[in-house]
Amino acid sequence: MNDHCRDYSLETLAVRAGQERSQFNEHSEAMYLTSSFVFDSAAQAAARFSGEEEGNVYSRFTNPTVAVFQDRLAALEGAEACIATASGMSAILSLVMALCGNGDHIVASTGLFGATQQLLGNIMPRFGIQTTFVSQTDVAAWQAALRPETKLLFLETPSNPLTEIADIAALVDIAHRQGVLVAVDNCFCTPVLQRPLDLGVDLVVHSATKYLDGQGRVLGGAVAGAKQYTDEVFKFLRTAGPSLSPFNAWVLLKGLETLQIRLQAQSANALRLATWLERHPRVSRVYYPSLPSHPQFELARRQQKSGGAIVSFTVEGARAEAWKVVDGCRLLSITANLGDTKTTLTHPASTTHGRISPEQRAAAGVTEGLLRVAVGLESVEDLQNDLETGLSLI
Ligand SMILES: *Cc1c(COP(=O)(O)O)cnc(C)c1O
Repeated sequence: MNDHCRDYSLETLAVRAGQERSQFNEHSEAMYLTSSFVFDSAAQAAARFSGEEEGNVYSRFTNPTVAVFQDRLAALEGAEACIATASGMSAILSLVMALCGNGDHIVASTGLFGATQQLLGNIMPRFGIQTTFVSQTDVAAWQAALRPETKLLFLETPSNPLTEIADIAALVDIAHRQGVLVAVDNCFCTPVLQRPLDLGVDLVVHSATKYLDGQGRVLGGAVAGAKQYTDEVFKFLRTAGPSLSPFNAWVLLKGLETLQIRLQAQSANALRLATWLERHPRVSRVYYPSLPSHPQFELARRQQKSGGAIVSFTVEGARAEAWKVVDGCRLLSITANLGDTKTTLTHPASTTHGRISPEQRAAAGVTEGLLRVAVGLESVEDLQNDLETGLSLI
């Protein structure tokens, strides 16, 4: 990236980091929709392919628009380097395939995103990579799960959908004492609210599909951290091809420019909505890190700049009652996506967490009465009125 940018604050980096202007001196970032690049000579082609000469070759692994996105996100996370991928799941897959092999072991939390649980729990064992799942908040359980062959701790904080907070610094401490790497899925907080690399974490992964885009338009992902690790991720991506498209990279760049103001506003809306829900007679429990009732309220306050934009709550009753609330809402979108400016409402047990076993679901605390709101930018009054209509049907 343009190194002088490193001194700027997050707001400035989000708008400007990584941009290299072309011969046309464009103001907005150019989008390079091309699968391949032309060389001046046979010798240059050979030098580019061998890596002797830096430069673009083929958009599976080199594209200027993707490179700007990678450099900008690296700057925001305080990372030495970043590799963009086609989706959040392909970022996690690439990370595991790049850093773990047959016989290696991972410790991860039970509250991980549903597809991540599937990947680590059901697919990776076929390739000889085993994962032990432990409670997000129980540091002693993470310590006890470490084995001589443990390669990686993988966590996501706050967790989805219960917003449980993992103590990043404490987990880094126990992992590094045994030479184990730590990766954090920073999807919910983004670097605006939490910078795991500053707390000693080795790698950050993102589903850029969520807040980094922020408007529900494209899929994307990224792995950021020290170059010694991202280089391994790059080797996997170059060969296996879970690459980010330049069009998506361009959309994500535009998303990053408003990341800070969106997250601040959505997080403020979420706190107001969570406070209102907690007083609602038909709501039995609210999960939101900035409520004093949250079990890790103090830790969240130390570790995050605010509570984020995800609020989960349980209604009195089970699936039938939860579905009544969902179907009674007119404004909130019934969709599994989150991180959008449009507020979304999800019943995790029958959607995002529907494919995992009932035991895994129970371990993750995803009960039938649980609903998740990913708070957007609408007026909080309108959101409350809509939820009131749904809740009144129970
Ligand atoms: C959505 C999500 C993912 C997966 O990202 P995709 O872009 O949908 O592949 C991973 N982790 C978390 C926390 C997510 O919310």
